[in-house]
Amino acid sequence: MINKHDITGLILAGGLGTRMGHGDKGMQPLHGQPLARHVLQRLAPQVGPLAISANEHAGNYARFGLPVWQDVLPGHAGPLAGLHSGMRHAATPYLLSVPCDSPLLPPDLAARLAAGLTQNNADLAIAVTEELDPATGLTVRRSHPVFCLVKTSALPQLDAYLAAGERRMRTWHGPLKLAEVLFEDSAAFGNVNTPDELVALQARALSVPMAQAILADTVTPVADIEQLPLQQAFERILAADIISPISVPAHDNSAMDGYALYGADLGADLGGGAPVTLAVVDTILAGRPGTVKVARGQCARIMTGAVMPDGCDSVVPQELVLQAGETSITLAPDCIRPGDNRRFKGEDLMQGKPALLQGKRLGPAELGLLASLGIATVPVRRRLRVAFFSTGDELRSIGEPLAAGCIYDSNRYTLLGMLTRLGCEVLDMGIVKDNPPALEAALRGACASADVIITSGGVSSGAADFTREILARLGKVAFWHINMRPGRPMAFGRIASAGDTALLLGLPGNPVAVMATFYFLARPALLRLMGADAEASSLPLLQVAAQAPIRKKRGRTEYQRGIVERDADGRQHVRVTGAQGSGILRSMTQANCMIVLHEAQGNVAAGDLVDIVLFHGLT
Ligand code: AMP
Ligand code: MG
Repeated sequence: MINKHDITGLILAGGLGTRMGHGDKGMQPLHGQPLARHVLQRLAPQVGPLAISANEHAGNYARFGLPVWQDVLPGHAGPLAGLHSGMRHAATPYLLSVPCDSPLLPPDLAARLAAGLTQNNADLAIAVTEELDPATGLTVRRSHPVFCLVKTSALPQLDAYLAAGERRMRTWHGPLKLAEVLFEDSAAFGNVNTPDELVALQARALSVPMAQAILADTVTPVADIEQLPLQQAFERILAADIISPISVPAHDNSAMDGYALYGADLGADLGGGAPVTLAVVDTILAGRPGTVKVARGQCARIMTGAVMPDGCDSVVPQELVLQAGETSITLAPDCIRPGDNRRFKGEDLMQGKPALLQGKRLGPAELGLLASLGIATVPVRRRLRVAFFSTGDELRSIGEPLAAGCIYDSNRYTLLGMLTRLGCEVLDMGIVKDNPPALEAALRGACASADVIITSGGVSSGAADFTREILARLGKVAFWHINMRPGRPMAFGRIASAGDTALLLGLPGNPVAVMATFYFLARPALLRLMGADAEASSLPLLQVAAQAPIRKKRGRTEYQRGIVERDADGRQHVRVTGAQGSGILRSMTQANCMIVLHEAQGNVAAGDLVDIVLFHGLT
């Protein structure tokens, strides 16, 4: 098995982009992000180090913060020159090259090429796909030699090939052993050669990780900061680093009720394993430091948390004392090790060192820690104001009679709960009918009073047309088809009205889809807006064995509602809650976790490990 950290991922962006009007192909925007950014996003989880091969436009790639390698060969010798430069520079035994204009590349490209390379004991592996030739009706194989996993030790062969004046990608390996690895999805290898192809790609589905990356790249934290008393700062986001004004604890102190002494007095140097008797010269209570100098051969009675007397470095817990008198005690010489039961000054927090960093969400432990430093007020970001409404002629509010074909609006209640949990200031704007003036008025109103507007419904292909038209008038909003289930359609952008602007997140209508898109797309974006650090915004994935097989379609991310529990032999497993329809909200109330089945994953067998996100966190 090849470890992914032994593979350098190389994005080939050194071409001339002739059919793109000699532009920089990798920098062409797709969903508002450079094509190369999409490629990077898909490649990064698959490999260890990353690098970009670029020539003329090398400067454009600096923004990715990765090494940029120029061709060693002169004169834009094509992709092979990029591969050559990559093999020269890479510090790993393997190199995986991908073109900068294939943003849909398979999420399991590296893993499958690596498996093919190992199984065939090959030097390089390339991707191939099968396509039906419409003219002949025959299946033809297409190889994709630019998607190439190669041993970097194959460099002499490539050097020799290039030295002979050759430039073709297909034949460079000569006598080396080539493995061809068949991939089912030929669209994954599609690349963008013309502006029209770029437009066509825009209409295709967006992967969940890429949608998350776009959201993260687009939003920036609210600037306003307020100084709040600790009691009011619970669940808020810290806006500046907190440096410890004091050390905690402020002195070395005892971790036990017992006797403070010199560890050396117990040492073997006193010999013989005979009991040691020490004079008790003082009693030291918590909050009342001792007054007597404790000398060698002496000790002081001490309570937990009390300041250690000068010179003493150990505490013998009182239950280990053989004989305790008013004026002396007797101990076994090896009853503790020197240094035991002493807490050091500053072992929790050291004066002058950062205690909490900005972006931290202030939970119970953080409040306690700030209090331990004597800090009365803290700078936090102001609360995010989020307006939300539901759209749909079929929706009725609680209390209204339910006419035929109508349903009660549930999304506003799930949104209310989810937003409140995040600590947002919420503005419930009710139900908005499927009618353009009503929708426009609601959006303008929300814009005036909120940082973010969250809507549900009205963004699926059937419903989207008039929404699209209004949003285009109010700002710049993209309609995404996200490769996920539930929750495919979503709108995202920024709108403006009368000098105010707001971020818009248009979630789908189906109740479970609302929750899935909220948790996995909206939530990280909202937390980032709130100024939270990456740790607060990412949901930790745990791995648990599936109790039974789970059907899963490869090529999209699925969020299934799960129940994780312990079986009779104490092992955890997870099962799905039953019907997984995106309208079945009961599945969310029965579940205690979301099973996250990633894009590259197919059907899950019983016993396979799957990722889950637990619904409940402790702090
Ligand atoms: P839409 O995206 O507007 O086509 O809605 C998709 C589905 O979700 C339809 O079956 C709607 O009736 C349902 N739906 C939309 N909004 C809500 C809501 N607020 N509460 C419950 N169901 C909704
Ligand atoms: Mg609707």
